[in-house]
Amino acid sequence: MTSNSWEYTGDGHALAMRTGASLLNMEFVQFHPTGMVWPPSVKGILVTESVRGDGGVLRNSEGNRFMFDYIPEYFKSETAETEEEGDRWYDDKKNNRRPPELLPRDEVARAINTEIKAGRGSPHGGVFLDIASRRTPEFIKRRLPSMYHQFKELADVDITAEPMEIGPTCHYVMGGVEVDADTGASKVDGLYAVGEVAGGMHGSNRLGGNSLSDLLVFGCRAGLNAAYHAERTKDTARPQVDGDEVKAAAQRALAPFSHEGGENPYTIQHDLQDVMQRLVGIIRTADELTESLKEIESLKERTENLAVEGHRQYNPGWHLALDLVNMLTVSECIATAALERTESRGGHSRDDFPGPDDSWATKNLVLTMPDRANGRVQLDHQPLPVMPDELKTLFDTQSEVR
Ligand SMILES: Cc1cc2nc3c(=O)[nH]c(=O)nc-3n(C[C@H](O)[C@H](O)[C@H](O)COP(=O)(O)OP(=O)(O)OC[C@H]3O[C@@H](n4cnc5c(N)ncnc54)[C@H](O)[C@@H]3O)c2cc1C
Repeated sequence: MTSNSWEYTGDGHALAMRTGASLLNMEFVQFHPTGMVWPPSVKGILVTESVRGDGGVLRNSEGNRFMFDYIPEYFKSETAETEEEGDRWYDDKKNNRRPPELLPRDEVARAINTEIKAGRGSPHGGVFLDIASRRTPEFIKRRLPSMYHQFKELADVDITAEPMEIGPTCHYVMGGVEVDADTGASKVDGLYAVGEVAGGMHGSNRLGGNSLSDLLVFGCRAGLNAAYHAERTKDTARPQVDGDEVKAAAQRALAPFSHEGGENPYTIQHDLQDVMQRLVGIIRTADELTESLKEIESLKERTENLAVEGHRQYNPGWHLALDLVNMLTVSECIATAALERTESRGGHSRDDFPGPDDSWATKNLVLTMPDRANGRVQLDHQPLPVMPDELKTLFDTQSEVR
């Protein structure tokens, strides 16, 4: 996928799953609305939300400030109705409502996606983020110095003089290893998970900034409990490394060096990115997801015959060959769960099931890999714990006032 986390290869998710842990919520992937779309070498690098917070607006190729056409019913009461009101908000937040460019990430990302698909995108496949026509160069350089330098150095664009080209970019995966919230313990004895590799913490859509508090609070819990576990088991039988398994893993890892004329890992990575972007992106349908699973399966077959050149030291092609297995596993998990969840909720949007469905609010989708040898993932429905009444009342009240 186009991704600002484009170095992310799914190692943690896939390794945990192969060891016997379960993954949940893998269908929920967060797209950040504003990533750079040009030039290709920097595609996906994040453009901070502050640009919109400081007055930047989104425009399509016709110059329209299109976000006013995409205000969902749910957010109408707290969103400005006119450009004038939205503009007043920057100076007087008490008496005006927020401009629609500051709606939640998934709403803005979907709106941009729709504009691009309708043929109203920018030359390089995004839309325009314009702060140049709204703020002075001094203001922009003072408030957004790193964005000014990012665009100047990477794209040769002066954001004080011209609009930026931006588009939705894959940002965060809400899904991950199923853990006990108090200890970070997974289903595998001695394996603890926290942060982006863990699932469940952020529901279907993480709120901006909440990763930091997740890492601090649950990182502390998982770290302490992993240390307690190590202490508790120090005199008892620790898991033993099986020499044959290590030998087999080493053989598998080195195999691409001896496959002459095999597949290039970069080609497979490119093809996987294409499948995920085209068929498992922001807006999904059953047909496209079914097709994606077929294509992922065929990519898996092609990875059996990967070939790399050179030697083992500092060989990025070989590293990618090793990473591909995990990338494919994580992609399969996302597509499998996305196909199963026949509703739209948070970071998961289905064109064929456009709204949330209450029956899905009572369960999670859980993925496991019962047989490591064949690498197939298994999907199960798992009921969510029933919400205590006092919490439910609070939740319902909050929903009404939002
Ligand atoms: C551009 C951007 C901006 C963001 N801004 C914010 C923000 O303002 N506030 C906020 O709360 N969140 C933000 N986030 C989200 C947040 O940064 C991440 O969710 C968070 O850093 C995840 O932390 P982590 O420790 O779980 O994983 P990571 O920080 O990804 O750490 C995982 C580590 O594991 C290492 N690793 C991976 N594979 C292997 C392997 N096979 N062997 C050994 N090591 C390995 C990696 O090198 C890495 O060091 C942002 C994310 C991005 C991409």
